[in-house]
Amino acid sequence: MKRKMEGYAERRTVLVVEDNDMNREILCDLLEDDFNVLQAENGLVGLLTLEEHGSDISMVLLDVYMPLCDGFTFLERKRESGRFDSVPVIVMTASDSVDDEIRCLKLGATDFITKPYNIEVMKNRMQSLIRLQESSAMLNRLELDELTRLYSKEFFFHNASIVLQGDPDARYDIVCCDVENFRTMNERYGREQCDRFLHDLAGWLPQVLPGMILGGRLGADVFAFLTEHQEHDWTEILKNAHFQPGPEQQAMKFSIKYGVAQNIDREISVSNSCDCATLALRQIKGRFNTPVAVYNEEMRRMQLREHQLVEFAEPAIENREFQIYYQPKHSLESDATGGAEALVRWIHPQLGFISPGMFIPLFEKNGFITKLDFYIWEEVCRELRKLLDEGIPVVPISVNVSRMDFESVDLAEKIATLADKYNLDHSLLHIELTESIAGDNPELIAKTLERLHENGFIIELDDFGSGYSSLTSLNTLTLDVLKLDMSIIRHASATSDYSILRYAVLLAEGMRLKTVAEGVETADQVAALKVLGCDYIQGYYYSKPLPVREFEQYIAARCA
Ligand code: C2E
Ligand code: CA
Ligand code: CA
Repeated sequence: MKRKMEGYAERRTVLVVEDNDMNREILCDLLEDDFNVLQAENGLVGLLTLEEHGSDISMVLLDVYMPLCDGFTFLERKRESGRFDSVPVIVMTASDSVDDEIRCLKLGATDFITKPYNIEVMKNRMQSLIRLQESSAMLNRLELDELTRLYSKEFFFHNASIVLQGDPDARYDIVCCDVENFRTMNERYGREQCDRFLHDLAGWLPQVLPGMILGGRLGADVFAFLTEHQEHDWTEILKNAHFQPGPEQQAMKFSIKYGVAQNIDREISVSNSCDCATLALRQIKGRFNTPVAVYNEEMRRMQLREHQLVEFAEPAIENREFQIYYQPKHSLESDATGGAEALVRWIHPQLGFISPGMFIPLFEKNGFITKLDFYIWEEVCRELRKLLDEGIPVVPISVNVSRMDFESVDLAEKIATLADKYNLDHSLLHIELTESIAGDNPELIAKTLERLHENGFIIELDDFGSGYSSLTSLNTLTLDVLKLDMSIIRHASATSDYSILRYAVLLAEGMRLKTVAEGVETADQVAALKVLGCDYIQGYYYSKPLPVREFEQYIAARCA
């Protein structure tokens, strides 16, 4: 009776390449108890089978002398293709020719076995080789990022810290590199092209960074490198480094930014040093012609302040330090206030007034934004209820919804429950989502918006035309209103070229969306927007964001 091998639940597939029919049949028969077996009568058929079944094959048993394509040629071609490097090959040699064996090993064979073989010994050897291969592949996968072959984040931190523990006199720099607006590039050029781009970029960077020791991929498009400390100014060093993408990516428009932490402190973790480098990098995001920033004392102070803000955030909700300002939206059709946007401000007892531009990005990073946003939505609902109860006229209020809020699968239900708690008509609450949101988890976002819409909430797409725009979001998301970013309005009045603005309004009209122009400051801008057919105007021309009491007076005077 044939005995099954134990302790190895899932059957692996092996490919037997052997020209002698009888030998092959016997061997396959013996192996079939423990493996799925594929057969090939010569090296050529073997290569084709490998192509067809690829990664399903865990091992190849290879005869050396065969017609058409022998074992040596098989090994050579396999190596050239490079795609099956992880499939081990055991060569079966009839003779005890040491030369053949050496030649096979040089061509990449993993092991050899001399005929006639003992089948039990052979099976055990096969199983242990497969196991070894699989576990090293797994380790490799974890250690190296598959796309770029740089270290994955954790391994980069670990290996870099080992380097730092070495020579106590050596000094090091960390260089972080980021591709600007990579999410938009992904949407525009497709994932495959962008993967190719990242792969090539990751291959090029180590060549242009002097003293490069090791590199890692910290995020989708963020790389970090540990280098020997450079006395030279990094801005000078990288001034002439221009990445040339491959032929298929030539048309891509991109911008690469570098953040550097020089002469890093061994007392702090590599991950913290990378934070310093990326903080420097963040300062030059969107700044044309400034590709490099080096971490400095001023940034250190800012970092401390950021830590402080994060630390103070939780008690600030309890102490009611977050206040809501309301900025009216003027309806051009009715020439009256047609709505308002709720904008948060933080009035800290010691630090004073803190603008949302300062703390929202921090809270988006650490996740606190979901708590703050929910708090703001509830405050807005409470205010609307209060006004209704007092018989003061109300207008719909827009609240901002962050990207992270959409990670909660029941966002639509949460907002609906909140509005119902205050017995509010859902049309009184508008939801503003930023354009850049659309790239994240498109299906979940699309579904949530649909549900919000079904529930009667009005959806506004914020910051349209801000540079993060993508027309895809217009087609795939359920929207009611397009908010034109203040940059398009500024551009139009600064250049007297209204074509982009006109196009945006026409686009909205074509899609039956209302338009709100943001950041409108002058009478000329209002006049132009009126001609173009824009529906609402929000901006300092009509009013700055107002504290709640002033806002109440404002609408009382303007809404009959
Ligand atoms: P946003 O949603 O695009 O808000 C419009 C910003 O433009 C506001 O800045 C507003 O004060 C400002 N603004 C309005 N009219 C004018 C104008 O005529 N000229 C100029 N120069 N600026 C004008 P603010 O209040 O500093 O808010 C900045 C950003 O912070 C907001 O941009 C929004 O993305 C975010 N934000 C504010 N409140 C919240 C909130 O409660 N939750 C979330 N998630 N984000 C918020
Ligand atoms: Ca907004
Ligand atoms: Ca906006």
